[in-house]
Amino acid sequence: MDKIAVAKGDGIGPEIMDAVLGIFNAAKVPLEYEVVDMGKWVFDKGYSNGMTTEAKQTIEDLSILFKGPMETPKGKGVKSVNVTARKTWNTYANKREFQTLHGVDTVFSKAGIPIDITIVRENIEDTYGGIEHLLTHDVALGRRFITRPGSLQVIKYAFEMAKKKGARRITCGHKANIMKLTDGLFLEVFYEVAKEYPELKADDVIVDDLCMKLVTRPDLFDVVVLTNLQGDIVSDLCAGLVGGLGFAPSANIGDHISIFEAVHGTAPDIAGKNIANPTSLLLSGLAMLRHLGLMETSAIIENALLYTLESGIHTGDFGDKTIPSVNTTEFANAIIGNFGKQPSINAKPIIANNYKTPTHFVLDNNPMLESIESIKEEIVGVDFFVESHVQPKIVAELALKHTLTLFKLTTVTNRGTQVWPTGSIFTNLVNTYMCRFESADGEPLTQVDILELYKRMTADFKVCSMELLNRIGDKKLYSSAQGQ
Ligand code: NAD
Repeated sequence: MDKIAVAKGDGIGPEIMDAVLGIFNAAKVPLEYEVVDMGKWVFDKGYSNGMTTEAKQTIEDLSILFKGPMETPKGKGVKSVNVTARKTWNTYANKREFQTLHGVDTVFSKAGIPIDITIVRENIEDTYGGIEHLLTHDVALGRRFITRPGSLQVIKYAFEMAKKKGARRITCGHKANIMKLTDGLFLEVFYEVAKEYPELKADDVIVDDLCMKLVTRPDLFDVVVLTNLQGDIVSDLCAGLVGGLGFAPSANIGDHISIFEAVHGTAPDIAGKNIANPTSLLLSGLAMLRHLGLMETSAIIENALLYTLESGIHTGDFGDKTIPSVNTTEFANAIIGNFGKQPSINAKPIIANNYKTPTHFVLDNNPMLESIESIKEEIVGVDFFVESHVQPKIVAELALKHTLTLFKLTTVTNRGTQVWPTGSIFTNLVNTYMCRFESADGEPLTQVDILELYKRMTADFKVCSMELLNRIGDKKLYSSAQGQ
């Protein structure tokens, strides 16, 4: 029997994990569980990443982590163990499946509108890189990373998953009309990958429109793939469509290690009372069984869960209030008692188990480091973010005073809006400007040219940050300012 790592978590974590493992044992799931030390009490013992060295080693050896919710201590400057785990082990695809559950009333279930949406959220990049700086007391700047190999990994996974699910449609949610280079890159990769899957209808929807359409016609969507932050928001929206976070499973998929967890938190208000709803963790556990090829076992348990929900049995957080609620253990026992029963809707087909031992391998060298791009970028300018409280005209005059003949000052912006050479007196200003210098004759520049200009600018400004402007052929690899 194969072993997987289990971290029970904090708050209600141990109660719901024990309930789920009880159901697994009753269903004779052919897995052994090695409990590892992760969570708040591990932070409290002095481990700054919330897991012991042994826990990290065990998870890396076993490849699969099944985890309960964990608390991140507040005010100690430590990072969330949940995010650390996803990023450290490159679980690049967060898959959340949302479906109508009979017995969990929502506006859509009452209206007879079925929901079966899978959200695939990129799990590593975007603003979750945490690259943020306060440039001045008044101005904070955050950067988001969207990379071609990172986008390719998650989008390929989404297409493969959609094909296996028998999906009709796969949609890319994005904001490429505003974030033309970052979301634009994600969207470009989406359509490149789409060419390899002609059997799937691939389309894209701008994320704000997507949210509106999801809450009006959720039945039109099948698989949706998004960047990290937008995916985070849209997946919670979808959880709301099917009855809340208590019914939302989450799988963090990587090539080496995968993590399966409930999406809700540790629910400290009800911890220790044996009244928590284990459904989200159970659904995540079932996604784990399917990931391991345990299709039949997963279907038997899922059908029993759906049957139990249909028959009105519920914990206190949902369901018909005229029917008394049961506690966590009673809910788990009801599911066990319903093994072999079929729900009237959404019954899962019983497909034979096809167990695959998780592959244990490590990255000797990282293939994502190799770019397929053969043409190199040329430097053709620089953006300097400078602190200043004077008017745009004066900023431009000072910047022009320092401009070397190799450069021309093309724009000065404030919060992304052009304020020089043209602008409006109605544009509100903060004390950080961006001065854009581009190559005067269009010829490439060197980093030493940039440094020389940087040095000259420091005579009149604090240069808070700088960004090189690149070009490949005729294509500028930087965006224009608003109003430029
Ligand atoms: P929460 O999800 O823990 O609780 C929000 C509300 O939902 C509470 O009223 C709670 O009682 C209820 N609830 C949550 N899960 C439930 C369940 N299974 N059954 C019945 N009711 C349930 O969110 P929070 O209060 O914002 O966060 C509490 C802690 O959890 C924080 O320390 C947070 O950092 C952590 N957290 C961890 C994860 C994770 O491990 N993936 C995710 C979110 C929050």
